[in-house]
Amino acid sequence: MFFIPMLPFKLIYSDGYDLSLGAHVFPSQKFRWIREKCLADGIATEADFLAPELAPDEDILRVHSQEWVRKLKTGKLEAWELMRLEIPWSAATRRAFWLSAGGSTLASRRALADGCGFNLGGGFHHAYPDHGEGFCAIHDVAIAIRSLQADGAIQTALVVDLDVHHGNGTAAIFAADPSVFTLSMHQENNYPHPKPPSDIDVGLPDFTRDDVYLKLLDDALARAFDQFERNASLRESPVASRQSLPDLIWYLAGADPYVEDQLGGLGLTINGLMERDRRVIAAARSRGIPIAITFAGGYARRVEDTVQIHVNTILAARETFGTTDKHAEHR
Ligand SMILES: [Zn+2]
Repeated sequence: MFFIPMLPFKLIYSDGYDLSLGAHVFPSQKFRWIREKCLADGIATEADFLAPELAPDEDILRVHSQEWVRKLKTGKLEAWELMRLEIPWSAATRRAFWLSAGGSTLASRRALADGCGFNLGGGFHHAYPDHGEGFCAIHDVAIAIRSLQADGAIQTALVVDLDVHHGNGTAAIFAADPSVFTLSMHQENNYPHPKPPSDIDVGLPDFTRDDVYLKLLDDALARAFDQFERNASLRESPVASRQSLPDLIWYLAGADPYVEDQLGGLGLTINGLMERDRRVIAAARSRGIPIAITFAGGYARRVEDTVQIHVNTILAARETFGTTDKHAEHR
């Protein structure tokens, strides 16, 4: 008999996260495989998972236009809108996006309670207020941030986006908003074009490898905290929003900077990606800032690699936050 200590944070997951795309370069079944690997490898038990609810339209509309939400709900998308979205549209797909937004909102709230919270779906950072693109119909992370700001749970946030693709939707949504600081580190010579400016953009050359990447990441994180603090004067009162640290960090831990990714052109190894995760999570933990994490892209030639990279992010968080035997389960 052996026991699996409970994770010190929750993993938000629903079978409904699968976008049901059929044969497609985006393996949206990966969300289920991540959960299954966590269970099979003894990383988590059923008690570590929480199910999300569909995000209420009220929350979706804090970020997206009435017109875009109406089109998604009625399925009345123009041919060119589907081409830009690059995925087929169905009731199951719509439900998956609404669940993912509910999941990111729940992960944010769990992060405030536990220090860390994972949404095993989401990271749809290419969605704009009035259109979707690049497999992203609605922006779950922005919806989560706006929802928590609306009820006063947080006032400020920092988005650290390390997907290989620039966080164009995030940059556009928060462009004129000093309460949400955006950092995107991505391959410069890749989708999307154009790239609207984040607060900090680090556009990497093709084939960037672990050592160079990690150095630039350390620099970018340091600059982000420094600049966030200096931006305090831009933020309106109340006083709490003048704090020198963000109330919440959202980390988009894309698996697609991996050297074997089909849609990426960087040169990171699986170990390099896990070290990346450790550094972001430690940056939050060492400052006492809650961190919510989602997985975003991942299109490795071997889908097992994508799943391993995502599971490693959970392991990196467990290293940093430790395990608890408070509710240890025997089996
Ligand atoms: Zn990506």
